[in-house]
Amino acid sequence: MKESSPSFAAFFRPASTRKLRTTVQAGFAFFSLYAGYRFYLFYLWAIGERTTYTPRPPSVEGFLPISALVGLKRLVLSGQYDMIHPAGLTIFLAALVIGLLLRKGFCGWICPVGFSSNLAEKAGRKLRLLWQPPVWLDLPLLSLKYLLLFFFLYLIAWQMTLPQIESFHRSPYNIGVDAKMLLFFLEPSGLAAGIMLFLLLISFVIRNFWCRYLCPYGALLGLLALASPFQVKRDRTTCIDCKKCEKTCPASIQITTKSVVRTGECIGCTECVAACPVDGCLSIALPGRRKNPLLLLPGAVVTLYFLFYIAALATGHWHSEVPPEIMAKLYRIIGDLPHP
Ligand code: SF4
Ligand code: SF4
Ligand code: SF4
Repeated sequence: MKESSPSFAAFFRPASTRKLRTTVQAGFAFFSLYAGYRFYLFYLWAIGERTTYTPRPPSVEGFLPISALVGLKRLVLSGQYDMIHPAGLTIFLAALVIGLLLRKGFCGWICPVGFSSNLAEKAGRKLRLLWQPPVWLDLPLLSLKYLLLFFFLYLIAWQMTLPQIESFHRSPYNIGVDAKMLLFFLEPSGLAAGIMLFLLLISFVIRNFWCRYLCPYGALLGLLALASPFQVKRDRTTCIDCKKCEKTCPASIQITTKSVVRTGECIGCTECVAACPVDGCLSIALPGRRKNPLLLLPGAVVTLYFLFYIAALATGHWHSEVPPEIMAKLYRIIGDLPHP
């Protein structure tokens, strides 16, 4: 057994890896908040409550996963890119490709909801509120997000025909759905407010409650991640069973029971590798290459994400083709529009 000696993995100690992840996540979260604020100003202009025009930030479409799934099916069936919410489809495609190649790196390094979940977990830990559900409860709860995912995949990917897709795609509801989403948060119904409050409070008690049990987006990324070439590997012969990896794992994975972490729950955060005190015992492995620099996976996640953004921007697939004046007209009646 060889205790830690200077190496690539040892260079990034737990604190610095965690700090780096927090910094990257916070960067994306602050950008999302800023985009949300700009979108709110655009909305106020659109409904006539503000005279100064603020351009609509396309990145808010990242919060429209259903529209993006419909856009993806339309792209597959007709070859046409969604030019109503192109940024939404681009972000969705980026997340899927990241999932396929780089585990759930989108969840671990980019998604602002995952970041807020992590913050709630940290606060819950400090307040000594965190509780780990027993296996008999954890396993059935884990299945919920897959049930939700299969429900949406059945309805959209399986059931919807191309004419139905086109009809939904061009519907006033879909065009103005970003305003509908904004109103959902600004003026929630009693039920929606109650559910949001429940999710917020329970996140202080049960680690990553939304991400772990309910998010169908994360479930989809987790299924894709099963094919990812990146895997956390443990060397049983050098492991000293200190369980530091498990204590730090935000996805509550029982790393010490495996040689390879294959589960779709792994978000590729690399915190376990940084926390392991035995040099080389845990590593982020690729086929034919067991040891890789710790920052390879997160670096690839962020690079790939920005490559999608730059490609979409350069090829005209980032900004919506719907004129702001048309959006403004729809935003004024969006509260009365039924779901198509
Ligand atoms: S599980 Fe869902 S909410 Fe959580 S980080 Fe992943 S995509 Fe975001
Ligand atoms: S197994 Fe390691 S890389 Fe995967 S989620 Fe847990 S701590 Fe992060
Ligand atoms: S951190 Fe985990 S893998 Fe590393 S020595 Fe301790 S128990 Fe083994």
